[in-house]
Amino acid sequence: MAALELSRRGFGVAVLDWRANIGDKLCTGIIGKECADLWPPAPEHIHGGASSATVVSPYGKRYRIERPSAQAYIVDRVAYVNSVAERAQLAGAEYILNSRVTDIRVTGSNVIVTARAEEALNRYVCRIIIMASGFGSPLLRMVGFKSDPGGGDPGSNYLVGCQVNAIAPNLTETEVYLGSAAAVKSFAWLVPLSDSQALAGMAPRHRLNGQMTDFLSRLRSEDRISEVADRPRTWGIPIRPLSPSYADRTLVAGDAAGLVKPTTGGGIYYAFLSGRIAADAAQTAIDSGRYAAKDLRGYESAWKRVFGRELRIGSYARMLFETLSDDQIERLLDEFLSEEAIADYIGEDIAFDWHSNVILKALRHINIRRALTTLGPSAAPFVARLMQAGR
Ligand SMILES: Cc1cc2nc3c(=O)[nH]c(=O)nc-3n(C[C@H](O)[C@H](O)[C@H](O)COP(=O)(O)OP(=O)(O)OC[C@H]3O[C@@H](n4cnc5c(N)ncnc54)[C@H](O)[C@@H]3O)c2cc1C
Repeated sequence: MAALELSRRGFGVAVLDWRANIGDKLCTGIIGKECADLWPPAPEHIHGGASSATVVSPYGKRYRIERPSAQAYIVDRVAYVNSVAERAQLAGAEYILNSRVTDIRVTGSNVIVTARAEEALNRYVCRIIIMASGFGSPLLRMVGFKSDPGGGDPGSNYLVGCQVNAIAPNLTETEVYLGSAAAVKSFAWLVPLSDSQALAGMAPRHRLNGQMTDFLSRLRSEDRISEVADRPRTWGIPIRPLSPSYADRTLVAGDAAGLVKPTTGGGIYYAFLSGRIAADAAQTAIDSGRYAAKDLRGYESAWKRVFGRELRIGSYARMLFETLSDDQIERLLDEFLSEEAIADYIGEDIAFDWHSNVILKALRHINIRRALTTLGPSAAPFVARLMQAGR
């Protein structure tokens, strides 16, 4: 998205990626309406619109949520992301694929990037770089960042995403599974694609420890899937933003900067938004000829203005959720997902990509508020922070 914006404005842009196929990374491909408005998926890349979903409680109670129109879309993630790259190339960006960046040197007058393509080492000299190198990128350390959003153990600042292709002939809508029998301190999913294909996955807070195997057995025994089509793959999902997210001649966007919804682990939309904001910041730097870290501060202020509050409230909501026992989740779901409560705090639409309003409206609902106050001392600080954020 950054490459598209900058090349549209007439700047010379090179995109280095070690993949041959841009966008081909582990992902479910659910995007909200807002993301689809920002970058509409081609009709042939949409597996389906999601106007309903089923939430399965820790003890197996099923809650169906339905809205009059699609709140999200399940897209062919590779084709969707690829479509941005295609447009960027048409606008003049040069894509250098199969090319792994191995070294980055920031000097007073430029940035020298070294990339390996097969046996050759190629050097590229530029004025500024935008790092959109995804989760746990070692490239961050090359430009002086001390930590990255993929650092430390799972449980510290990232989720362990795991997903497999499955066959699910009876599945018609997305199912979300909560509770320790699904994914500890997080959730698991079963998402229909086209032609009985589905994606089964989870994003636990800590190591997998057999949870995926157990989840797949459960889906089979409950007749939700008939078979698993390949081996589960895992990849990290950062849930804490990198700050600062800029350095001399460097801007960091998307997963590399930990710009992901802490509630669901969805990051495509914020990757797009931060890519656009990074393009603006790069243009400002080029126009003014000022590339020092202090001159790039505006980048972080800008993304914080757009979705900083979302990240903060999402993060409190996640911390609160992580304190809950299965019993507590079971009780809360009865309040949160009752028809009456949903009508009150969600209304016709769920702003899929702007969760904070739904979270804060839910907190104002009298029954939910009452239920939250019974959660005990470990949840209380996060309930308080959420209440405060909503004032
Ligand atoms: C299991 C799972 C399910 C998910 N489901 C969803 C979902 O349904 N909806 C949603 O919104 N988000 C989802 N996400 C998160 C989403 O995939 C990411 O937030 C999003 O892809 C971030 O985009 P990005 O461009 O920042 O990083 P990436 O998509 O990871 O792209 C980084 C790119 O950098 C390249 N790269 C890295 N290092 C180098 C190097 N040294 N040299 C050259 N190239 C390099 C990689 O090849 C890659 O192409 C999911 C994540 C996981 C793990």
